[in-house]
Amino acid sequence: MKLQFDLECPNCHREFKQAVAEVRPGTSRHCPYCDAEIRFTGDDGRQAQQAVDNLTRTLKKLSGKIG
Ligand SMILES: [Zn+2]
Repeated sequence: MKLQFDLECPNCHREFKQAVAEVRPGTSRHCPYCDAEIRFTGDDGRQAQQAVDNLTRTLKKLSGKIG
């Protein structure tokens, strides 16, 4: 499963899905809407990690209900 989170473009403020695995401090990607370059900092990494933590918690809750 690919983990993704909503990333907001600082230029056009539209949100798009960003794969958590691709977010590393010092790297960058381009907004699919306005093609602005978005640089990842340590803050983005924390945001991504938070999304992963939330997802993990949700999945645990769900599996608890099913199992
Ligand atoms: Zn944009």
